[in-house]
Parts: sequence; C-alpha cells; structure tokens
Amino acid sequence: MLKVLKFGGSSLASGETFEKVKKIVEADKSRAIVIVSAPGKRYSGDMKVTDLLYLVQAHIKYSASYDTLFNEIKERYRQIHKYCNLTQDIEKEFDNIYSRLNKKTSVDYIASRGEYLNAKLMAEYLGYTFVDSASWLYFNFNGKVDFEKSYKALSDIIENNPRVVIPGFYGVTPDGNVKTFSRGGSDITGAIAAAAVNADMYENWTDVSGIMTADPRIVDNPRPIQNVTFAELRELSYMGAEVLHEETVFPVRQKNIPLYIKNTNDMNARGTLIMEAFDDDLENKNAHFITGISGKKNYSIITIAKNRMNEEIGYIRRALEVFERFSIPIEHIPSSIDSFSVVVSSSNIESNMHELISALNSALSPDTIKIDNEISLIAIVGRKLQANIGIAGKIFTALGENDINIKMIEQGADEINIIIGVDDANFKKTIRVLYNLSEVTE
Ligand code: ADP
Ligand code: ASP
Ligand code: MG
Repeated sequence: MLKVLKFGGSSLASGETFEKVKKIVEADKSRAIVIVSAPGKRYSGDMKVTDLLYLVQAHIKYSASYDTLFNEIKERYRQIHKYCNLTQDIEKEFDNIYSRLNKKTSVDYIASRGEYLNAKLMAEYLGYTFVDSASWLYFNFNGKVDFEKSYKALSDIIENNPRVVIPGFYGVTPDGNVKTFSRGGSDITGAIAAAAVNADMYENWTDVSGIMTADPRIVDNPRPIQNVTFAELRELSYMGAEVLHEETVFPVRQKNIPLYIKNTNDMNARGTLIMEAFDDDLENKNAHFITGISGKKNYSIITIAKNRMNEEIGYIRRALEVFERFSIPIEHIPSSIDSFSVVVSSSNIESNMHELISALNSALSPDTIKIDNEISLIAIVGRKLQANIGIAGKIFTALGENDINIKMIEQGADEINIIIGVDDANFKKTIRVLYNLSEVTE
C-alpha cells in the first residue's frame, strides 16, 4: 500500500500545525510521499506566505523596499524551525533566495519559494528526503505538464528514496525555469505525484472534514459529502466549490486512484471519498439525490430571438462563430424554438460588449437581442438525479415559494447536473433554499 498525501497551507501555517501533520504521517506506514503547500493563514486576517511573496515581487517591480516583507516571511519559517527543533541552516536558504532577487527574477520563481522552504523544513521534521519539484515536474513549451516525462522522473527518484517530501505548486520548463500552476496548484502536484507512483490512494489534507454539500461560508454547518464521483466533483468544482483545484482530477482519474479529502484538525473524521464510480452495495441506501450544490456570480445571458428561427439552417452556428471571433468562452446555450441564449462570464464581454452586439446584429439580423447581467449560475449536482423524475419540479416549487425568479434552467446531457440562473442578489438565498431541499429529498 502506497499513499500520497498533500497538505494545504492552513495545515502548515505554524509549528503547531506541523506537529499535527507529523502525527498523521506517522499513523500509517504507507504514507510515504508528502506534498506541501506554503504556510497559509494562522488566523482569519493573517497573510498567506504565497501572497507575501507576490507582494515582494510587486515591490521589486516598482523599485520599492521589500525588506520588511521579506523579514515577515523569514519569521514565519523561523517560528516553525524553532518550534520543531530543526537544525538545518534555514538562514542560508533565505540568503540564497534574497541574493537572487532583482527586477529580472521571474514572478513564478519568487512565488514558488513558499513551497520550497516549507518542504525543506517538513522533510527534516519527518526524516524524509527532500525532492525539489524542479527536478521532476516538467512542463512543455506550451505551458502544459509533460505527464509521461514527469511520471518517469518521479518514479525513478522514488526507487532510491522511498519516503519523500515534495514542494507543491511548481515545476520546471524545458529551458530550466521554475513555473507555477495557478493559485491553489499544490493539489495538482499531489495528483501528478500520485499518478506517477501509481499510488493506492491520494489523500488531500485540508481544514474541513471533506467536501460539503454547499459552501460553508454560505450555509451553516453543511453536511460533508461521503462519496462523490469524479464527474460530479468536476461539475461542483467548476461551478465554485473551491476545495480542490479543478485540474486536480485528471491524473488520478486517469489512473483510477481513489482520492480522499481529509481534515488535518480532525484526523479520524472520515472525509470525502472521490472515485470513478461506487458499487451499489457501497452506496449508502439513504444517499441523497442531490450530492452537492455550488455556484458562481457575474454571468451575462445574451438572448437572441427571431421568428421562425428554427427554419434557418446554421443560425446558431453563425452566432457561435461571432463569439469565437471575439474569443469569448461560452458556458451554456439554452434554447427554445424561436430564441436561444448564450451564457457567458460577464468579465469576458465587459470591454467589447458594443462591438459584440453589433457583430451579432449583422451576422444574424435577429428580431431582438436582450442582455441580462448580474446573473448567478448555480449547479445542483447528483449522480442519482436521473433516477428522480420529479426533482426539477421540486426545485421550481422550492424556489418559487421563496420568491426566487429563475432566469435560466439547463440539464446536462449526462443528467448529473441541473444548472439554474438567478439574479446575483439571490445567490446566497438560492443556495440555502436548495441546500434545505437536498436535506429532505431522498
Ligand atoms: P488548502 O489550503 O488546504 O488547499 P483551501 O482553502 O484551498 O484549502 O480549500 C479548503 C476551503 O474550501 C475550506 O476551508 C472552505 O472554506 C472552502 N470551501 C468552499 N466550498 C466548499 C465546499 N463545498 N466544501 C468544503 N469546503 C469548501
Ligand atoms: N501556495 C499556493 C497558493 O497559495 C499553492 C497552494 O496553496 O496550493 O496558491
Ligand atoms: Mg487549496
């Protein structure tokens, strides 16, 4: 049995949290490969080290002094170093990084040092080998991960060093420069490492006891989801359940490695298990029809209407070509006989709205074009939705009873999600109403 573990920033924010991590790792001999984030917030209002590093870079760029910020970062690691009675020369590491800082130093290199230093400390604390991600996680020139090359490099390293600590969040480009993922990317490093070594399990340790049915910042004490499929998780995280970076799923899904979300502050809590599919036997007989609810604000719905549109071959295609020409990604295209809507993220049309509308007018000669802004999209996700014929009706009724006007509704072809559009002003209320519905609907 071989397990790959990833610990998030809040699990590694201080010496005290390092101690919890050590307990978790030592509780199970198969926990051999550990990926770490940079120190996160110790309390609400605190700064993440990664944010401090981005600030350092901004100060360098504008020729402002960054010594105070850099000292703040050093203090974070010194506290851990002291608390854990470590002996490595961390000051030398700081000096080395400091000496490399100038206007030409890339933002990715600077941001990556948060993970690098934390992995150095954690490796000594656990008595594991430190393996720099610049020595195995390869990007292609096009900015995408070179999976095969990375898998081979890490599995070769593991042959001689079976117990390792690896910094998350970054890798190396073909010309030898450090490159980071987008924010929250240590989750991806963990998934790639798990796939590289064909792990039996990828445990993602964070500050909540699993993925909740709804965002805990919106719903009080939501229920943790016990089992969720990769497909459901993809829908939930694309639509805003930000527990896991959305690119995490691909490497572990491809190799069919079960993924657990676990709580560093409550190591015995079951957490959420994510797999390709669940056996009927394994399924809790009382499993809820709605697995989870997530949502995002700030979409626009552009509705194009024309009488007898259905008789004009290629009409929707011509509209989509206009969006393509403007490089605007499309989220959904709900349609009826004489009209259809194109749902896009508002940020993608803000700067060129007028040009877009005039291009649509000349390509389509529609009767009307209407734009609704400040729309939230909310996804109701559940692998059992397809078995529950009445669920859409229950959703309409619950929202209607709460005076929430539905602007759009769409069901995915694979029937694991229903997406509804409501006004941004109703965002939180809608999620709460749907959460209450998910609790009673079986
Ligand atoms: P880490 O630093 O461990 O990577 P993150 O902050 O990236 O942790 O992710 C965990 C956080 O995600 C939780 O503290 C919680 O605030 C937030 N979150 C958002 N949606 C959900 C959800 N549906 N279930 C659980 N947590 C959620
Ligand atoms: N430390 C990085 C961030 O704050 C990566 C991560 O935490 O996963 O985004
Ligand atoms: Mg995260």
